[in-house]
Amino acid sequence: MERMRPFGTTIFAEMSELATRTGSVNLGQGFPDTDGPETMLRAAATAVTSGHNQYPPARGIPELRQAIADHQRHHWGLEYDPDSEILVTAGATEAIAASILALCETGDEVVCFEPYYDSYAASIALAGAVRRPVTLRPEHGRYVFDPDQLRAAFTKRTRLVLLNSPHNPTGKVFTRAELELIADLCVEYGAIAVTDEVYEHLVYSDAASPHLPLATLPGMKERTLRVSSAGKTFSCTGWKVGWVSGPPELVSAVLRVKQFLTFVNAAPLQPAVATALRSPDSYYVDLRNDLQQKRDLLCAGLTEAGFDVLVPEGTYFITADISPLGGTDGMEFCRSLPDRCGVVAIPAQVFYDTREAGQRLIRFTFCKQRPVLLEAVRRLRALT
Ligand code: PMP
Ligand code: GLN
Repeated sequence: MERMRPFGTTIFAEMSELATRTGSVNLGQGFPDTDGPETMLRAAATAVTSGHNQYPPARGIPELRQAIADHQRHHWGLEYDPDSEILVTAGATEAIAASILALCETGDEVVCFEPYYDSYAASIALAGAVRRPVTLRPEHGRYVFDPDQLRAAFTKRTRLVLLNSPHNPTGKVFTRAELELIADLCVEYGAIAVTDEVYEHLVYSDAASPHLPLATLPGMKERTLRVSSAGKTFSCTGWKVGWVSGPPELVSAVLRVKQFLTFVNAAPLQPAVATALRSPDSYYVDLRNDLQQKRDLLCAGLTEAGFDVLVPEGTYFITADISPLGGTDGMEFCRSLPDRCGVVAIPAQVFYDTREAGQRLIRFTFCKQRPVLLEAVRRLRALT
């Protein structure tokens, strides 16, 4: 189909394949190299061997929907009815795709920030909708956007705003002032927000702002579909258990699409994720502290190797400018990095429509064990 022609193999698949083929340290695709909480793993094993292997209910098992509701109330003070306002999906990816497909007519416009997670562009294209990117650019070590560009992106065709905070790949955590501007424009133009909050628990102590779900701002809960998933929070990216929360009529619209994409998913993993969502606060604090130390280790190593490093406020990604190393094109740079030093990274340019803005930026993940990061840092020294 014409509108899918621009989409080749995802950069994550390409770069992970390159890492395997060359025996490189893979700091490209973002997946942890350790498993999530032991209680969650045991709950999954028990579910598999105790008859939780058939289709679960369309909206997800009640126990998981209740745990998702309790988790959002506890962490963000957001109230959702588990029976009508929460839907379990095959990862955040399906929640986002089904939301866009459910809500956009052909030609409707979707405002999103670039660089954007790669599935956004593909899902918008599948829906026959049009993306209206607003560019994030580094300024004094922090990614910011031009409020005028954001305002100009809204038109009478704007249907959705797709907001990812904490943001992949930049590590930006949107501040209250930035969110207020987005919220005001949503209200003014009657747009619905789809918020991708898969990194909701990965915000570091020196961030300019804590994580604030857009739905907590005045006037936003009734027009927001809030998306998250278990993958990042509980180190189980391969499980693909996600969820979307929002007003009943919007969630029902998403369900209408989701039922024909996957129908349902992950029966034995659903009770296990419910268990994980009930983890004590100390779990989230430990996860964050551990990752912050890894962030600092890799930031220092990348700086030493000669990159101009942008320290992320959240997520488990670091973006770095290759200019000080003489690099002019991130794609070329990443394709040659395995030969030069045995490390794999992701060129950020593929996440932009405005290629020039991301041309010299590449992304490294730090959700790996300390010895792996130390080995990567050792190898990267070969660049200088
Ligand atoms: N959104 C963002 C910003 C991501 O980085 C990812 C990567 N996991 C996803 C969505 C997809 O999440 P899931 O694996 O739950 O589909
Ligand atoms: N979300 C992860 C990343 O950004 C992996 C995504 C994927 O492989 N599709 O690296």
